[in-house]
Amino acid sequence: MAEKIILTGDRPTGKLHVGHYVGSLKRRVELQNSGEFDKIFIMIADAQALTDNADNPAKVRDNIMEVALDYLSVGLDPAKSNIFIQSYVTELTELTFYYMNLVTVSRLQRNPTVKSEIQMRNFEASIPVGFFNYPISQAADITAFHATTVPVGEDQMPMIEQTKEIVHKFNFVYGDTLTDPQILLPDNKACLRLPGTDGKAKMSKSLGNCIYLSESEEDVRKKVMSMFTDPDHIRIEDPGKLEGNTVFTYLDAFCNDAHFAEYLPEYANLDELKAHYQRGGLGDVKVKKFLNNVMQEELSPIRARRKEYEQRIGDVYDILKEGSKVAREEAAKTLAEVKHAMKIDYFETPEFLEEQLAKYTG
Ligand code: ATP
Ligand code: MG
Repeated sequence: MAEKIILTGDRPTGKLHVGHYVGSLKRRVELQNSGEFDKIFIMIADAQALTDNADNPAKVRDNIMEVALDYLSVGLDPAKSNIFIQSYVTELTELTFYYMNLVTVSRLQRNPTVKSEIQMRNFEASIPVGFFNYPISQAADITAFHATTVPVGEDQMPMIEQTKEIVHKFNFVYGDTLTDPQILLPDNKACLRLPGTDGKAKMSKSLGNCIYLSESEEDVRKKVMSMFTDPDHIRIEDPGKLEGNTVFTYLDAFCNDAHFAEYLPEYANLDELKAHYQRGGLGDVKVKKFLNNVMQEELSPIRARRKEYEQRIGDVYDILKEGSKVAREEAAKTLAEVKHAMKIDYFETPEFLEEQLAKYTG
């Protein structure tokens, strides 16, 4: 049977936040521990981070270790998941260069995630070519490892679509070589795109509306208590709205019935709490306190594990170095397959010389 292989990753543009956690990290750890996968590659995408941070290399460098610590603290296990740094695997840029020939400019312009990111960064007038091109580089990341499964958040859907198109085109033009990947989105709708604490559509490092995995108990509490709710829910007795109410979206993402038994036993489950809120008579503070308890329960073991790894930075460095070596060997194999399929492997087999000899000397 064909191997099952995971590739996914994050940009080292900041510490990881709870949006990453519910959207991708938590699932990765479950998949890792399911034992169903033959290989798991987790990439710290520094080269991609530089596509919109070219003038700030220090930021990218500073966040390599932060992201690695976040990975280890949520339970990614280097014995099962190969953690590596993208730029070390130079084969990825070579793959990107060849894939660029299979994609049109207008196709890249249609990518809705890139469109909104261009807007967010005020790149409209002057988009760096590298940034514009990053969906192609992501196709290289995914295919270099023959990934079958890519567990990511909803914003990555257009990237996986682009990757699939490149795979189909490549295999059609050059013969069956690349593996067609499947996206794996969170089952829970609230986790697809966790909003920011300000109520904005997406929690994102670039928007500064995040609760970070490494944040202290007190800072998490403060952020939860000042979270965006229903602006028309002014007095406790007013009926409250759930749509666009960030606190309830977070409860959808984080809480289960056991949390009610533990912290809010007057309700059996989230449906009862929601019904009361909509009826009126339930204050935001009470709901926020409950959410804070739920989130602290999830985050405190992560925080504790991070403290341990912070005392072992040398080991974390070795994990990254070793992981990058393994990833590079894997990508080099795929690049050789690609170059063979594209007939640009002149020195790897005797064929090229034989063809030329036959042509010129008969
Ligand atoms: P940046 O602002 O630098 O792009 P980001 O916060 O968007 O940072 P990425 O590194 O681009 O984070 O995303 C890494 C992974 O986390 C992707 O799989 C993405 O889909 C997922 N993800 C990011 N933000 C969220 C969110 N708010 N909800 C669910 N998943 C998310
Ligand atoms: Mg992003």
